[in-house]
Order: sequence, then structure tokens, then C-alpha cells
Amino acid sequence: MSVTVRFAPSPTGRLHAGNIRTALINFLFARKTGGRLIFRLDDTDRERSTDEFAEGIREDLAWLGITYASEVHQSDRFARYAEAVEKLKSAGRLYPAYETPEELELKRKRQLARGRPPVYDRAALKLTPEERAKLEAEGRRPHWRFRLETRDVVWEDLVRGRQHVDASSLSDPVLVRADGTYLYTLPSVVDDIELGITHVIRGEDHVVNTAPQIQLFEALGAAPPAFGHHSLLVNADGQALSKRDRSISIKGMREEGIEALAVASYCATIGTSDPVAPHANLDELVRGFDFAKLSRAPARFDPAELRALNAKLLHMLPFEAVAGRLKGMGVEGGATFWGAVRGNLAVLGDAGTWWEVVRNPLSPVIEDRDLCRRAAELLPPEPWDETTWERWSTAIKQATGAKGKALFQPLRLALTGREHGPELKLLLPLIGRARALARLEGKTA
Ligand code: GLU
Repeated sequence: MSVTVRFAPSPTGRLHAGNIRTALINFLFARKTGGRLIFRLDDTDRERSTDEFAEGIREDLAWLGITYASEVHQSDRFARYAEAVEKLKSAGRLYPAYETPEELELKRKRQLARGRPPVYDRAALKLTPEERAKLEAEGRRPHWRFRLETRDVVWEDLVRGRQHVDASSLSDPVLVRADGTYLYTLPSVVDDIELGITHVIRGEDHVVNTAPQIQLFEALGAAPPAFGHHSLLVNADGQALSKRDRSISIKGMREEGIEALAVASYCATIGTSDPVAPHANLDELVRGFDFAKLSRAPARFDPAELRALNAKLLHMLPFEAVAGRLKGMGVEGGATFWGAVRGNLAVLGDAGTWWEVVRNPLSPVIEDRDLCRRAAELLPPEPWDETTWERWSTAIKQATGAKGKALFQPLRLALTGREHGPELKLLLPLIGRARALARLEGKTA
């Protein structure tokens, strides 16, 4: 049996790091097993779902390199859900209930007051046809509940291990609202059956849905798939993260200049037993993927850690991996330039700053006039390479007696206008003799 999994966001917002963990786990598992990933848009809520959000989700997935075999829209499939509803009704597994939200709330309060769990009492199941007719004559429209079988439901969760739920402790879930719209449960199961989903992998906020869903698979005549529920994200202080937190928005990360591979590396390793480390491609993540590595403890999402990981990733990327994007930024430096500056970048955009330092006029900072004058006189003739700096700085040291920071800092400030940056032995040949000379003389060059 080949693996088929799905990533099923609702297009009611943009993706955040939590969604991307789910998407990645599904994607990596499919790739590792030679299976397929289906992208399913859970857009039954026509009011909150928008095409813009759907497009935004596609854009984020594409940026991260998360590809899928096909895209399915729940909004195209209402007829299938209606068929399932009929099937459940005729099997006596879907029954109309008429309580208003206020009446249900009152029942819950009474149960709690008596120390009982607030489970729906199935009063609607006991209604006679006359009583139902009377309620409908009063203008009440029914919502529809799935009658659970009161037995234990057990599954081997891919992340959490053996799970055991006593279905008699659960309320019969509402599948269809009074206005005829569907809650998420039924469409999801109908789709999982028809798309041949073998593994449902999602966040642990869905653990509570699993026992009713397993019964629903069975009521619709299908064998339930395997289930895996990964832990959710918390922030650096251990608090649950809200969707509205901008730091976890994928679009926000992209706009901040974070590399897609840094986001993928980070989201695929937090909450696992693997160290958080940069990976140069998704294949590496595929090779390392294993459900056994997923921790049950919450995954800590720390924007500062992601930024640090991004810098580490840039420091190891070869020129070929960034050449096209550098060109797009107007940075024409080649592999030598990249090799010189990559260790100093927080985001790729910073390469533009160093390109300007080596290629555009800048105002030098002259901290030690005498030293700079001597240094200018001692500049060797071109051609220059990585060994030039060593020869030149040794000569300045001998001529002036300056050494250590007193030698290097004035030279760095004069040559680059900055206190920190890439190694001068790498920058010097890129700056070139004419520009270096002028800058040491205090001229804008
Ligand atoms: N649309 C649901 C969600 O985003 C899908 C849950 C599932 O994977 O079953 O939470």
C-alpha cells in the first residue's frame, strides 16, 4: 500500500510556522516513503474562505519547495458530503436535534452542577415523530448529530503511541448545522476516504476529533487510516503561540529576508530529537525524517533562533545556490566576493551592503591619519590576491610599530567605513588598489 497523505489548511488566513510544521511532516513523510501528498483546501466556510488566502497559501508552499501531487477543494465536493449524510441517516447514525445553544448550555451547567461530565444526553433521540413535527411547526430547524457507538476507540498514534478513548465520555458530534452547512468532521472523513488517505498527520489539537472520526470512517464503510498528532508550538517563554503573532507568519519571514531553507530546516527540526541545524536542501531533511524523532513535548519557536539559523545557513551556502538572486539584487560579485562576505550576513540582502563597500564610492573614516598615510605609501602594486594583505600589513607594522587592534582598526575604518565586517585579506583585492589608495588618503572613493 503506498502512502497518501494530505495537508489540509482552511484558506481563512495565511500560513504560519505551526501550519508549516504540519505541511513539512506530511511532505517529508511522503517523500521518504515514495508516497503522495495532496493539498486540500478546507474551504466549506464560504464566508471566511477567500481566493486571496488560497493563493497566499500556494505561494508560501511553493516558496518553501513543498510540492504536491494534486489540489482538492472541499467547496467542489458538497454533493459527496450530501451523499454521505443520506447514507448515515438511513443507517440510523445521523439524527436531528433541536436544542438551541442556550438550551444546550443550560444542560451542560446542570450536569456540571451534579458533578457529571457535560456530555450531550441524546434527548433528541427520544423524540417521537409528533414531538419533532411540533418543534418544526414552531419554526425550529434541526442540526444533525452523529450517533456514536458507546465503545472504546483505540488507535496507535504515530507520535503519541497507543491512544484510548471511551466514546461514552463524548457527546455525539454535530456534523451538519441547522443552516445546512457542514462542520469540519464529515467533509474531512469523506475526503480522506475518497482520496485514499493512508495517514492523517496533523496537530494534536485534533486528537479529540479522532475517536469520532474513526467511528465515522467505519459508519461510512471504510477502514480508518493511521493517525499521527504532532505537538503544537510555544514561544520562547513556553506560552502557546497565536496565529496573529506576526513573527510566525511565513510571509513575514520571507519579507524579513529569511531563507526558505532556513524556515524549512527550522520548522522540521524544532520539536524533534534532532539538533536545530541548517540543511542545504530538502533532500537532507527527507533523509533525516522519522516519526520516532518527533517529541510529544511542545515545539519551541523562537524568532531569534530562526534568525541565527538563517545566518548559519547563509555561511555554508555555495555561490551557485545564491548566484541568481545576487544578480537580481544588482550584486555582480562572483564566487570570490561571495566567499568573502557570506560569513558576515544575517540575511542575503546584506550582501548588497558589502557589494557597495567594494564597488561604490564611500566616505572613509580616518581615525589615525599618520598610520593611514604610511599605509598608503606602502600599498604594493597590483595584481592583488588573498596574500596581499599579509604582506602589506606586515610592512606597515614594521614601518610604524603599530600592531593588533591599533593597526587593523584604522585600516578597516579607512577601507570600509565600518568597524566590523568580512576579513580584510578577502576584501582588499575586491576593493582594488586605486580605491584603497584614495580611501587611505581620506577621499570619497
Ligand atoms: N482544516 C483542518 C485544520 O486546518 C484540517 C485538520 C486535519 O488535518 O484533519 O485544522
